Amino acid sequence: MLIDLHTHSSASDGTQPSADVVRSAALAGLDVVALTDHDTYAGWPAAVDAALEVGVGLVRGVEISCQHRGISVHLLGYLVDPDHPELRAELAHAKDSRETRVARMVHAMAADGIPVTLEQVRGLAGDGATLGRPHIADALVDSGVIRTRDEAFEDLLRNGSRYYASHYAPDPVRAVELVRAAGGVPVMAHPFANGRGWTVGDEVIESMARAGLGGLEADHRDHTPREKAHAVDLAAQLGLFTTGSSDYHGTGKQNVLGENTTDPLVLAEIEDQARSDIEAVRP
Ligand code: AMP
Ligand code: ZN
Ligand code: FE
Ligand code: FE
Repeated sequence: MLIDLHTHSSASDGTQPSADVVRSAALAGLDVVALTDHDTYAGWPAAVDAALEVGVGLVRGVEISCQHRGISVHLLGYLVDPDHPELRAELAHAKDSRETRVARMVHAMAADGIPVTLEQVRGLAGDGATLGRPHIADALVDSGVIRTRDEAFEDLLRNGSRYYASHYAPDPVRAVELVRAAGGVPVMAHPFANGRGWTVGDEVIESMARAGLGGLEADHRDHTPREKAHAVDLAAQLGLFTTGSSDYHGTGKQNVLGENTTDPLVLAEIEDQARSDIEAVRP
C-alpha cells in the first residue's frame, strides 16, 4: 500500500488541476493520495470524480496556514467538514489576507524596477486559487527575471528578503481545535523544516497536542535526518502518530509523488479519529 498524504493542486500553488494530481497519483502507483491545498477546499469535487474514474483512494484535506509569534506553522486537516462555519471563516480570512500580502510584495518589487505586476500574478494563478509566493515566482519566470520557482525562493522571495511580507494566519492551537471541531484530524506539516525558515519550539507542539493534534509529518524532504528523528521522538513522547508525504506541487517543485509514504495503520487511525461525514474515497 502506497499512501501519500500531502499534495497541492492549482486550487492553491500546485501546477496541475486537482483531477490531474489524482490521475498522476494513480500513474505513480499510489493506492491513496490526499489533496491538501493551502487554505481552500476548492479542488475537492474534481479530485473525487477523478479518484472514482482512475480507481485511486482519496483523502480530502487542507493545509491551513498558521502563525505563532511570527513563525509560520502549517497544519494539515484531514477529512474535515467543509461546511464548518468557523473553520471556513478562518480559511477565508487567511486566503483574503494572502491576496493583499501578494499585492504588497509585488508592489515593493515593482517599485524597485523588477518587472512584475499583480495582473500578471493573478493571470498565472488558477481561477480563485489561494495566492502564494510561488505565483509571484511564476510571474518572475514569465518576465525572464529568473528561470525557476526554486531560484525565486533562493533570493527575492525567501523569508528574509526585503520584499517578504506576511499575511494573517490563525494561531496553530486554535487551528487544531477548529479541525477537531470540524470532525477532522489535525497533523502538523514539516514541523522542523528549518531550511524553510524559523520553526516553533517543542513547547508549541506540546500545546497543540493538548488541543487535540493527531500526528506529526516526520517523513518530508525538507527535514534533515536529525529533524526527522526529532519529529519521531517528539511524536512518541506526546502519543502522536507520524506520517510521510511528498508535498507534491506538480512541476513547480522537485517533490515527486510517493517520495515519502504513510503507514496504512496510520491512515486507518486517521480514518478512525475522523468524525465528519467526509470519508476517504475508496473506489
Ligand atoms: P507562501 O505560503 O505564500 O508563504 O509560500 C510558501 C509556499 O511556497 C509553500 O507552500 C512552499 O511549498 C512553496 N515553496 C517553498 N519553497 C519553494 C521552492 N523552492 N520552490 C517552489 N515552491 C516553494
Ligand atoms: Zn505550497
Ligand atoms: Fe507546507
Ligand atoms: Fe504543502
